[in-house]
Amino acid sequence: MQYIPVRYIEPVFRPPSEANSLILQVTNGCSWNKCTYCDMYTQPQKRFSVKPEEDVLREIEWFSQRYSGIKRVFLADGDVIALPARRLLFILDTIRQYLPEVTRISSYCSPRNVTRKSDEELKALYDAGLRQVYVGAESGDDFVLKSINKGETHQSTVDSLNRLADAGIKRSVMIINGVGGTRFSEQHALNSALLANRTQPEFLAALVLNLPHGEARFQQGYNGQFIKMNQHERFLEMRQFVNALELKSTIFRSDHASNQLVLKGTLGKDKERLLQEIDLAIEHPDEAQLRPEWIRPF
Ligand code: SF4
Repeated sequence: MQYIPVRYIEPVFRPPSEANSLILQVTNGCSWNKCTYCDMYTQPQKRFSVKPEEDVLREIEWFSQRYSGIKRVFLADGDVIALPARRLLFILDTIRQYLPEVTRISSYCSPRNVTRKSDEELKALYDAGLRQVYVGAESGDDFVLKSINKGETHQSTVDSLNRLADAGIKRSVMIINGVGGTRFSEQHALNSALLANRTQPEFLAALVLNLPHGEARFQQGYNGQFIKMNQHERFLEMRQFVNALELKSTIFRSDHASNQLVLKGTLGKDKERLLQEIDLAIEHPDEAQLRPEWIRPF
């Protein structure tokens, strides 16, 4: 049997748009791992760890010997940018050396990962091939962020997103529809829109809150004040969010597996059309092309 020197610690997650990328797992789990809605890395084998440099080198070498034409690489897991700049640069340089056709390297990234890097380091990462990061902002509202134990504030997220932009690194920002519940929906929608307006990300996505393992931990963060939204209420929140967006050129998507209402467009030019589609879902859900509830994986 052929020896394959590539080791993935499952489960491994990647954004939908990285479906055709080589997934290179250089860290395992998430160094924060405290967000109350997130169960991605809670299994014992997903405790945060860093893959030794020599293993990363061997894996890249192995891929280069067997595959040609690899254009995109996604660095997993949850927050690779937590690694020191020197280590990241080693990985990026090695990818470029062994896989010269790669044009885009991307990863998930928490705002705090950016806070700990200097502007020069961010620029060096861009120059070495890091072209895009996926930032789960989740909300732009400080109360909501505190309640879900995100470990970030509106301002820390804005600062990091803007510093990434200054370095040339594209930002794909995610917001969670329904994460504030009915009680905090308005402030979540408006402050999340404000966060997007202040950072003008290249990509913006709205996912729907899912708590596959129950509400207990999540509810604790809200001191029992969280009231789950139904579909109609989530559409109303989405309307308020999109209506408050003032974006110049951002690709907007709500087409994650969790979304019943699929929206796609470029903001600002498609804002009116998107609002009309949301209005249809609010007023005539039977006429809107909603994904049936059973199709959603959660
Ligand atoms: S930072 Fe991301 S991966 Fe880590 S716990 Fe929060 S949502 Fe999950």
